[in-house]
Order: sequence, then structure tokens, then C-alpha cells
Amino acid sequence: MKQLWFVIGSQHLYGDETIKQVAVHAQEMSEYFNEKLPYEVVLKPVATTADIITSIMKEANASDECIGIITWMHTFSPSKMWITGLNIIEKPILHLHTQYNEKIPYDSIDMDFMNLNQSAHGDREHGFIYARMRKNRKVVAGYWKDKETLAQIEIWAKAAYGYQVSKNLKVCRFGDNMRDVAVTDGNRVSAEVKFGWSVNYYAVGDLVDEINKVTDAEVDALIEEYRAKYTIVTDNIDSIREQAKYEIALKRFMERGNFGAYTNTFEDLHGMKQLPGLASQRMMEQGYGFGAEGDWKTAAMLRVMKAMAGGEKTAFMEDYTYHLEKGNEMILGAHMLEVCPTVAKGEIKIDVQPLGIGGKEPPARMIFDGEQGEAIAVSLVDLGNRYRLIVAEVSCVDIPEKMPHLPVAGVMWKPYPNFHDGVKAWLLAGGAHHTVLSFALTKEHMIDFARMYGIECVVIGKDTDVNTLEKELYLTDLILKD
Ligand code: MN
Repeated sequence: MKQLWFVIGSQHLYGDETIKQVAVHAQEMSEYFNEKLPYEVVLKPVATTADIITSIMKEANASDECIGIITWMHTFSPSKMWITGLNIIEKPILHLHTQYNEKIPYDSIDMDFMNLNQSAHGDREHGFIYARMRKNRKVVAGYWKDKETLAQIEIWAKAAYGYQVSKNLKVCRFGDNMRDVAVTDGNRVSAEVKFGWSVNYYAVGDLVDEINKVTDAEVDALIEEYRAKYTIVTDNIDSIREQAKYEIALKRFMERGNFGAYTNTFEDLHGMKQLPGLASQRMMEQGYGFGAEGDWKTAAMLRVMKAMAGGEKTAFMEDYTYHLEKGNEMILGAHMLEVCPTVAKGEIKIDVQPLGIGGKEPPARMIFDGEQGEAIAVSLVDLGNRYRLIVAEVSCVDIPEKMPHLPVAGVMWKPYPNFHDGVKAWLLAGGAHHTVLSFALTKEHMIDFARMYGIECVVIGKDTDVNTLEKELYLTDLILKD
């Protein structure tokens, strides 16, 4: 179980009785958080000296379970005591600004009450030292029992879990980037320095060796699983069996190398009969990140966002084609094969159809209509001197009519604030055609995630004004020029 460490600041100025009271309140609060949050909240000793604070932070850095630190000042805690600890802490930080007592007890309030419930000024001292030290942190302000307060902590905690997965992520690339494509490429050394992603190339032939080791019995068992979960609408079972072999081989390769994500490209399938379609869809359904055409940044983001979303409703996506009917403009998102079935609504069919490019055998793929509802589309681009995360709020709609000749899964959506401004803003920001589409995450999750890395995050949403956004992009480029 992933842990959030709750660190409560105080000092010895007010006597032992006050610190005992702080500890009792801290216990009650952490029990409440444990009950309400889907994470284990671990209460640390009351932070009353620099040595205690520094040792908590050292321990946090070394802990694989600890995904983030929540700090809160119950009383005043002089911030110079915090400098050494905050200098070394590498985990995401949430500064919770709350107060144990909800209401001022007008009848009984005295100086003892005032000295015990000092978050109003203790947290200001604490906020200053974060600002002074330029520490990236989320600030949540609100009464600790309020559901809005808990919701914000939970969003941050999900982002913190994504951050931990991200820091330890290994991405396997079968083949290189699609030739000449810019946006899916980037600097892999920079990515490892910045994000911790280890992105390395493996020969397609090594995967082919693994494919050749898969037995008929293993394929038979997987075909039974496909029959139970999906509707097979083709007689070409051989093509489905080929994809089943790919799935088994890919999974072995990923497990052996401890990879969380992979890419491939239709331009490099030497020794393979088909482009993995169904196989990659199945891998994504099981939580792996995937990027087509060598797109390792989207593959990594898909893995990370699936971790943040608990595996739910989060898919590799591509802005494919437009419906430009005036007043009812929409984007049809799809890919030539590899759309993750966690965003499927209704029946999932498995069919075999020819693929227009790549010159290989017709591959088996899952075909379905996408979910409806509010979602985000996310793209990470490499601007040469820095990374920019672009997050668009979109509204996915019911696909208005059947598309009987479309041989792939599809999702349709309308971007915010409206179609034209939404797509204009996306182009101005340099967002890619590949994205991660998630119904389970919101812009807040991504803003929190970007802040943990200290990278630029451009949100295109309900409140976006394109002219203001263009000016912000211009100013950011001036400040962060290479
Ligand atoms: Mn593509």
C-alpha cells in the first residue's frame, strides 16, 4: 500500500502539554484521513526540532512506500528548522493549510486556545520558507474534514503515485521513430535526466525470437479468453492466433526487462507477419503504456496516467479526422489499430481487416465505439530546451451514426472552450496528434503532476481565451528561451 507521510510542525516553546495535545489531534486527523483516503496515511513524530525534521525527510527519500509528504503547522514552527530537511526532500510535497478546531469557541477562547490553534500564522511562516526555497508544492486550504479538502489531497496523491511510477519507468522501443516525424521524437538523455525515464532500443528480431517460442497450447488458452470477453466476428482465426502469440511474447519481454511501456513502428516489423493490433490493445488493457510509430513520450505518459487512474478509462489516442458541420464540429479520434479498450462502451468485436500501410498481412484488432463524458487529452512535447505538457478538456459524445466500414475503434469529442478555439490553442501550443485520452483524470491531476517535475503545463479548457493563451506562450518562450 502506497503511503502518504503526515508531518506536523510545532516547537517546544509552548511546553510539553501543548505538544502532547498536538500529538493527540494529529492521531485523530490521520485516522480520519486513513478512513477517507484510498492511501495509507502514516503519522510521523511531531516535528519540533531541525534534527527530527531532517531525519523524517531522509527516511522518506529512502522509502519505496512513501509517495509524498503532507506538511501542516498545528502551532508556529520556526522555518529555519525546516531548511535542511526541505533541501534534501525528493518526494512530492503537499502543504495542507487547515486548523484542528473548526470554529472559534467564543465563550471559552483564551490564550491557551490561541497558542494551540495557530495554523493561521504557523502555516504562513511555513509557506514563506517553501516560497523562499522555490520548492514545488501543492497548497490545499480548507477544513480537514471537508470533502473538498479530501478531494484535493486525493488528486495530488494520485499524481504523486504517477510521479513515483514515472521516476522508475523503463520504456522499450522496438524499432526507431517513424522516419521524418518530429513531434513523436525527442531527446532521450534529457528525458532520463528530467523524468527518470530509461528509454532504450531493442531489436525486433529479439521479439521475433520470443514470438517463435510461444506454444500452440498457450495460444489456445488465450483464444479461449478472447472468446469469453469479446465477440469474434471473423473466420480468420489464424490472424487472431498470430496476435495472441504477439501478446504472450510482448508480455514476457516486458516482464523480463521490467518495462512499463513500449513502442513499435509499422516501418520496422522484420520477421513479423502483422503489425501488433489486438496484441497492443490487450497490453494496454492490462496497464502497459504504448506508443505507435516509435512515440516513446506518449507511451511513457500512457503508463504513468494509467497508474494515476488505477487502470481505468485511459487510452492511447490520435486526433484522426474532423466533422466540420457548422455549429456541431467534432473530432473523431482513433488509430490505425491500437486504441485501448478501457475506453470502450458496449460490445467489443474482434475482426481482421487489411491495413493500408506497412505491406504486412491483415491484422486482427478490436473494434468498438468509445465512451461518452468529460475527458482530457494530454500531450507531452519536447521543445528542445524544455518539455511542455499540454492538457485539453474535451467532451466525448455518443457517436451519432453507425460507421459500418470503419475497421477500427473510434471515440468522438468536442474540445473546449469551443471547437475552433480549442484546436487553435492546441496548434499554437504545439500539441501532438498522438495523445493520452482519459475519462478518469482531470486537468488538476495533470497540473499537480507537472508541478512535481517543475515543467510547463498548458491547459486548454472551458476558461481558455486564445489571445491570452497566445500571449502566455509568447512570454513563457521569452523567459525560457534557449
Ligand atoms: Mn499514429
